[in-house]
Amino acid sequence: MAEVSEKVEIFSDKKRGRGVRATTFIEPETVLLIENPYLLTLEEDYRRNRCSYCCKERGKLRACGGCSFVYYCDRQCQASNYSDHQYECKYLKMASAGGDIRVRTRTLLVTLQKHLKTVKKRSQNVATHNARGFPLTPEILYKKMADEKTSPEPDMERLWEYAASKHLPVTEDLMQTFEGILNANMFSVRDGKARCKVIGEGLYTRMAMFNHCCRPNCTFTSDNRELKIASIRPISPGEECTISYLNLMAPTSSRQSKLRKWYDFDCDCKRCIQDIDKDRLMYAIKCPQMNCRGSVLPWKPSDSLSGQYLACDACGFDISTSKLPDQIVRTEMEVESFLSRKKDYDYPGQYLEECGPILARLDDVYQPYHRRVYQVVKTALKAALKLDEAETALQYGTRSLVALRTHLDSCDTLLGFNLWQVGQLQARLGMNLKAVHTLEEALRTLRIAYGSHHAVTVEAQELLAMLKSGKDHLALLSDTSQTGGHCQGSNAVEN
Ligand SMILES: [Zn+2]
Ligand SMILES: [Zn+2]
Ligand SMILES: [Zn+2]
Ligand SMILES: [Zn+2]
Repeated sequence: MAEVSEKVEIFSDKKRGRGVRATTFIEPETVLLIENPYLLTLEEDYRRNRCSYCCKERGKLRACGGCSFVYYCDRQCQASNYSDHQYECKYLKMASAGGDIRVRTRTLLVTLQKHLKTVKKRSQNVATHNARGFPLTPEILYKKMADEKTSPEPDMERLWEYAASKHLPVTEDLMQTFEGILNANMFSVRDGKARCKVIGEGLYTRMAMFNHCCRPNCTFTSDNRELKIASIRPISPGEECTISYLNLMAPTSSRQSKLRKWYDFDCDCKRCIQDIDKDRLMYAIKCPQMNCRGSVLPWKPSDSLSGQYLACDACGFDISTSKLPDQIVRTEMEVESFLSRKKDYDYPGQYLEECGPILARLDDVYQPYHRRVYQVVKTALKAALKLDEAETALQYGTRSLVALRTHLDSCDTLLGFNLWQVGQLQARLGMNLKAVHTLEEALRTLRIAYGSHHAVTVEAQELLAMLKSGKDHLALLSDTSQTGGHCQGSNAVEN
């Protein structure tokens, strides 16, 4: 099912461990891998309105006769899913009486049993990997022990109960190994439409061979079941091919702590080691001197409040002689408590109301591309989209672009997706000239980050063509309610 390009191979060395590298020169926008999952599980929210096999959204689906828990388009999709679903059908029937079942519990249960079965069947002498080191079948799971627990945790109690009742040969050690396997192979699955919503989680074992880098040379996108990795920069022969497991709109300290916690490694990529100046920009303070538009940057980029600062980059002012450091401490405490209290999805209206005054205070002190400003603006955009308030959404969308353009590479999926969102809002509000500019910029990014054939790129292209031809239109802003809707990594975290 999976197609691996001839242009890449697996390598293994002491420093990097196992990874993927180029065997020849690779141009940007070259597809390196297309993979269907070893196992895919829909998120609880999509279980009833999407097919459990092909993931397509349908008005009418048929429930599995065994468990009545999962749904399919038709018999064909049901039959295609049988090889996986047979391992959970009885369990789902039994457990669904006790309420919701965690996605991770299902994933763990099925992976475990599928693995036990293949181990039993496989003879020792059969080749498991191709000449370039990629696993020949998806049953070859990449094993990696993780100290940290998976998130969200599977419901172990229910699993044990079930395993005991079915006499499954499951031990504590085996369960732990499988948590490691899930951590290493799991990627989020997004829908094939231009909204790129996360709809489930899947195990992609070849994909898992690609290591992380905070300035990756490849990107991955998903279209329902199918995951695709393509290059976004030129890659030289022998160079490692990398993807990003994270939202890259975060400072080094935060990226590193997530990588350590969730993937159990210390990132030593160039961005982590060398880009201290770029990191400092995420904490840029406005110079308090009258008429100076310069920035004051911290010595060390960090969220710690006892920061020391460099002189203003324009007028040389030393803020330690002013009251500004105290004001920064107060502002930080205020925004931190605001962000920890407020979640847009509970009460988007209330969130929008309260984030106005907070942003005004941040604007007094921080540059518009400061990470705290971005954090508040990003959530405000989500809230405004949820309420379908186009003007407010455009205002916050435009503000979020200031930060994204400053900190992200021009080929980043998050930047492309946000540009696309802003372009749609402008078109919807009749600001056609602005929309054309934004969409042109968006497309330069989308074509590389998502590829020319992805729904996001195609729709952006169509909207642009329509605006250029001056036709009347209704730009549908159908539920673009997630700014983090870029097609990236498994636990792609919002910070
Ligand atoms: Zn289907
Ligand atoms: Zn069933
Ligand atoms: Zn890094
Ligand atoms: Zn200054």
